[in-house]
Amino acid sequence: MIVTDSEQRISDICAGWRKDGLTVGFVPTMGAFHKGHLSLVEIAAASSARVVVSIFVNPTQFGPDEDLDRYPVALEEDCRLLEELDVSAVFTPRVDVVYPEDFSTGVYVTGISEGLCGSVRPGHFNGVTTVCAVLFGIIKPDLAVFGMKDAQQLAVIRQMVSDLRMGIDIVAAPIVREPDGLAMSSRNQYLSADERKQACLISTGLEAALSLFQTGERNCELLRNAFLDTLKDAPKLRAQYVETVDPDTMLGVEIIENPVLLVVAVFAGKTRLIDNILIEPEV
Ligand code: AMP
Repeated sequence: MIVTDSEQRISDICAGWRKDGLTVGFVPTMGAFHKGHLSLVEIAAASSARVVVSIFVNPTQFGPDEDLDRYPVALEEDCRLLEELDVSAVFTPRVDVVYPEDFSTGVYVTGISEGLCGSVRPGHFNGVTTVCAVLFGIIKPDLAVFGMKDAQQLAVIRQMVSDLRMGIDIVAAPIVREPDGLAMSSRNQYLSADERKQACLISTGLEAALSLFQTGERNCELLRNAFLDTLKDAPKLRAQYVETVDPDTMLGVEIIENPVLLVVAVFAGKTRLIDNILIEPEV
């Protein structure tokens, strides 16, 4: 497994593979791996001849009051975990490599990126799409894998890749959860014992909404309320948003006729957690 912070080196390696007819699968990450990240790597490995993982804590997707300064970094351990998987190369660029001094371009996806996380984290998705466009330009992958935990990010990336004709197959990976249901996240390590205990109610609430749907309820307001009811007795949890949206457009839905995503952002103490569940009527 090659580990490099050199743009030239990773780009040459990928170009060589492509020349040899080998497909390249790409998994962009910010490191501090958990099983969710590793599942993305396995999905990439299952359908590409070579897998490249990037580890880059992208400063431009963090707001001024967010956790960039304390975001967990575990490069050595991350590489050790990747060694055990079918990974050919790890790209760990420095910030000034991704954003040289004269860097002047931004990639903005309107619409999809504006609600939900986009409205409470202004500039976040512009940072995500810009860094992904840069990384895609360096690696030129055939496919890239993104987790469904970040459902809005996935939709925004799909839109960018389609609009800019990037020719990359975007593959969605299911949410990997802790045994009690909490969606795995690098940020879970910020949680106090009490917060961690209560945080599992986020997935319990999503399941409660799904169960209500399975009893025949189609009114999204009642599903959102079922989620909120579950958080009632958890003093450490505060919902930031609870929305029912179309999974492709992220536009709000009130009556379920097609697949709907129940998407939530919840503060556990000061830590912001996101999660979602797909609600699919039978066709
Ligand atoms: P991050 O390092 O947080 O930027 O995440 C890198 C990728 O891992 C993104 O595509 C995330 O959606 C994905 N990811 C993060 N957590 C999970 C999870 N629990 N299950 C599946 N994918 C995840």
